[in-house]
Amino acid sequence: MTTELEESLRIRKIKEGTVIDHINPGNALYVLKILKISGKEGNIISVAMNVPSGKLKSGYKDVVKIENRELDPNEINVIALISPYATISIIRDMNIVSKMRVKLPDEIVNVGIKCINPNCITNSNEPVNTHFKLRSSDPLEIECVYCNKTMTYNDILQNLV
Ligand code: ZN
Repeated sequence: MTTELEESLRIRKIKEGTVIDHINPGNALYVLKILKISGKEGNIISVAMNVPSGKLKSGYKDVVKIENRELDPNEINVIALISPYATISIIRDMNIVSKMRVKLPDEIVNVGIKCINPNCITNSNEPVNTHFKLRSSDPLEIECVYCNKTMTYNDILQNLV
């Protein structure tokens, strides 16, 4: 028999919204940052970290469920960089209407990441969009189109905006 407390502690199903599953363990808060979710928006957000998972090499994953929110392709591209095995499910009326695995983007333009080089033109006051190209997927490396600095997985985590 489950008590009411146990029931309330369980991650609830969402009626409408998005489930991001198979996030690299420990990266759920970065995903919230990418989605610019502060928690003040008023919708229900469930975060589970370090949940056992047979699918990820580490044996663990994070899961984020966001009610009444769908993601745009640019946001999904940045999530792919920090969690290449993530899956995105769209929920409508309690049912999964679509489920896709993220795909590493070849290019990332004007979203979510700032160049690691403080002298890069994209970090100046010039109105220049950031623009990165994927150099390598394993190990992950992206390159700034303007200053040619490469950024690793850890650099990307540190430079999310
Ligand atoms: Zn740069």
